[in-house]
Amino acid sequence: MAVRMRSTWVFAALLVIAASTLGEWRGVAQPPAKPAPPPEAPPGVFTFTCPVDGAKTNWVQPGPGAGPSRNTDLEGPATPYQSYVVACEGCGYAMWADRFENRVDDTTKRLVRRVLYERRHEARQDGRVAYEHLARILAYQRAPLTDQLTANLFWSYVIKRKRPVGRVDLKLEAQLRDVRRTARNILQRAKADEPPATTRGMWEWTYLDGELARLVGEPDKAVSDLNAVCKYAAEAGPAIGKFACAQVERARRGDTSEFFRGELYDVRQIEIEEKDRLEREKQGKESAPEPPAQPSEPAPAPQ
Ligand SMILES: [Zn+2]
Repeated sequence: MAVRMRSTWVFAALLVIAASTLGEWRGVAQPPAKPAPPPEAPPGVFTFTCPVDGAKTNWVQPGPGAGPSRNTDLEGPATPYQSYVVACEGCGYAMWADRFENRVDDTTKRLVRRVLYERRHEARQDGRVAYEHLARILAYQRAPLTDQLTANLFWSYVIKRKRPVGRVDLKLEAQLRDVRRTARNILQRAKADEPPATTRGMWEWTYLDGELARLVGEPDKAVSDLNAVCKYAAEAGPAIGKFACAQVERARRGDTSEFFRGELYDVRQIEIEEKDRLEREKQGKESAPEPPAQPSEPAPAPQ
């Protein structure tokens, strides 16, 4: 059951275009074995017990999103990705909601206590940190690559949604680029070791491989994948095929930008700005006079 559910999760997470598929994989995110909440609790709130330290964590079951449309990196804009992972505030352990209470081996417990514990509060409050912990745990456990891919991909979606309105957060963009790079590396290993069962699934992975290459600033590496998917759009499915034909033209022009919530983000432009900023900081440090030495004790207050 667990294996079937996991494969359904990952399969559906990547076969993301069709509205019917959306409905299928949202269902997977619900905790299957939880009883109905007690009458005094708000509807849809469940309490999970952490398998590492036994702490209790409330989890709100995500409501249904609306609209089947997707961004070019296959993010469903209305999908509540942040809610699919649960992080324990007691210790920083994080896992998919439908597997959170599963038994955990001793080496994972050590990883949690030694490494993840420090940011336990952040993981509870910020989906980016929760996904970071999840991705680290899955990598540490050598979880199936498709599972790790889903975690990294969803992590990238959660990062995108933290983009501030009206300005570019360079640190956030750098993190997004790095997580996308990791997702693409995992995807390439998964293509070899855990290929999708269907031809259509394989084309979707090929599309994602190409589009992620473009979005991390390597459009040259994106062209052949996107071109192949565009050419075989009939096999890939109309939505993926249409995306591929549009994105391959941009990749050919060396265009690495993406639209998000009406703003244009370009990874290459952002990298240039980041380099400029670091350069300015460096120059500022070199030319600035030495700050005067601070007295180690505050001056005594006048009597
Ligand atoms: Zn815990």
